[in-house]
Amino acid sequence: MSQGRGHFSRGFMTEEEKANQPKVTKALLTRIFSYLKPYSGRLLLVLACIGLSSFFTLLPSILTGKIIDEGLMKRDLGALIKYIALSLAVTLGANLIGVAENYVNTWIAQHITFDMRNQMYAHLQRMSQRFFTSNNQGDIITRMTSDIDGVQRVITSTFSSILSNSLTLVIAMIAMFQKNWLLALIGIVIVPLFTIPTRRAGHTRWKYANESQACNDEINGILNETLSVSGQLLSKLFGKEAYEYGRYVEANERMIRLNIRESLAGRWFRVVLSTFTSVGPMLIYLVGGILMIRHGASLTIGDITVLVALLGRMYMPVNSLLNIQVDWMRSMALFTRIFDYFDIPVEIENAPDAITPDRAEGNVTFDHVVFGYEPERTVLKDVSFELKAGHSIAIVGPSGSGKSTIINLIPRLYDVNAGSVSYDGVDVRRLDLGFLRAQVGVVSQETYLFNGSIRENLLYAKPDATEAEMEAALKKANIWEFVQNQPGGMDAMVGNRGLKLSGGEKQRLSIARVLLKDPTIFIFDEATSALDSISEQKIQEAIDPIIQSRTSILIAHRLSTILAADEILVVKDGQIVERGQHKDLVTRDGVYRELYETQFSKALLPQEDGVTELEQYIWAQQPADEPDDE
Ligand code: ATP
Repeated sequence: MSQGRGHFSRGFMTEEEKANQPKVTKALLTRIFSYLKPYSGRLLLVLACIGLSSFFTLLPSILTGKIIDEGLMKRDLGALIKYIALSLAVTLGANLIGVAENYVNTWIAQHITFDMRNQMYAHLQRMSQRFFTSNNQGDIITRMTSDIDGVQRVITSTFSSILSNSLTLVIAMIAMFQKNWLLALIGIVIVPLFTIPTRRAGHTRWKYANESQACNDEINGILNETLSVSGQLLSKLFGKEAYEYGRYVEANERMIRLNIRESLAGRWFRVVLSTFTSVGPMLIYLVGGILMIRHGASLTIGDITVLVALLGRMYMPVNSLLNIQVDWMRSMALFTRIFDYFDIPVEIENAPDAITPDRAEGNVTFDHVVFGYEPERTVLKDVSFELKAGHSIAIVGPSGSGKSTIINLIPRLYDVNAGSVSYDGVDVRRLDLGFLRAQVGVVSQETYLFNGSIRENLLYAKPDATEAEMEAALKKANIWEFVQNQPGGMDAMVGNRGLKLSGGEKQRLSIARVLLKDPTIFIFDEATSALDSISEQKIQEAIDPIIQSRTSILIAHRLSTILAADEILVVKDGQIVERGQHKDLVTRDGVYRELYETQFSKALLPQEDGVTELEQYIWAQQPADEPDDE
């Protein structure tokens, strides 16, 4: 919630807020109330506390009359001490009740936000990949943190302020009317009058504060832009130093002018405030005095003092209640924003009659799959293929052709628009999500490691993995040696998102993590970015045996990976345009041949012995074929 810049934003709406005022419907209020309902007992307690403390806070003002009339005027020391003691006790009582009220109120607010935060987190966890790719991460985190924190403020401050201020006003007014209706009426008229000029002055100051804040943001923007590594380089290379300096000075000058104006407006605000707050009591003294002196009214000096004191107590609540409308609107906007998030439907969830098979083999079938991330753009157009358990498929194709999209559909990160994806003959949409995702192990290009130790990253895949299992996985992933050489071994930290590791090391660690998970289908999205040849070789050595022993799908960019697969699918513009084995595909004048000549050309360069890497590979893989062919 934009609680704004300090005190002065409280009573005023920004243009944006005015334009986006939420609709306060019965449904919205009922929904908010549903969060309060579990705590209704405690809420009643808060209500009682607020009532009592409002009354107790006003009581000393009423007792002032007794102190004057009964104690001072009648020169009765006993009465004087009694009322002074009572006054002090009541003030102490009001404060103690205030503490209790604050405790219970904060307790309720904290528990409500606790409930909401957990509910929101669980809801976000169920959101699909589409939600996370199409929503700004910053927005999601703001909903989770500051918006939900805002709810706490609404409960501890907005709601209780409405209650306590209204009660204080009502009690003060009753007490005033009991003393003298005419003076009470004067009080009631004068208090709102005072608020008009103070609100105007407040608005002016708020406006300047806002403009100054915008100016400050602009200055920060300029600093961030021009003093960053790339920004200053750009300004140097384009000779823009003088221009940037001018921009900076101009924004600074504007800022100075605004700050001076804001400070002056603040001073005027205080002048207006103090003038108006002193007019009220003077009027009461004047009219009260005239009533006493000229008309012989039965008013005492104590009565007039009480009326003045009560009047002084009314300014704050009236002012707060005038601001409340904006606070209320902001609170409703806040709840609306949060509920809007709660209402985003869960796109991918377990079917009510989801199946959890007893056995998992690893057969994957794409049957005339059509899919698009956005409705207006189809990414996969009629994709059909079958991956038999124990076999491997390499998917190749130009960038953006839909390779990653194909694999995204297997663990149901997205659902197909038409056709079906099946696992062991069952449509993935009918399978239990937990079961399905346990079957699929993905080593993606963008390896994600948590900021923890190597061990913690491994245990994420299998919390009860033994040391021996972890060691075996690391060995298979060809990274055991590296881990052993780390200070702390498996307890070495990988750094934020694994930044302390090289790309190749991260990918091998990620392979080890997937091996620990032990999925039935191994998916490997090969990095397009260049790794050095030693890293590449180590990864190749790690995945080769995996491909041979497990059902695998490989998004391949290197010839050696492609050749390790049983079948190659060539994808172009979301369609499988060719399929088969390397030796056949390479002879056809198609997409594969083109890719082969452009992307895999490194493998075509003759090595020292005049033989290409490709030829070496083919010979190594098919020693028995040669004599037969001849
Ligand atoms: P590369 O080899 O570059 O990784 P790819 O063949 O794996 O490419 P995909 O990532 O499957 O290609 O993307 C296929 C198409 O879908 C591209 O045009 C891409 O812009 C689009 N696309 C991918 N992810 C999304 C997304 N989350 N939202 C919208 N469009 C997307």
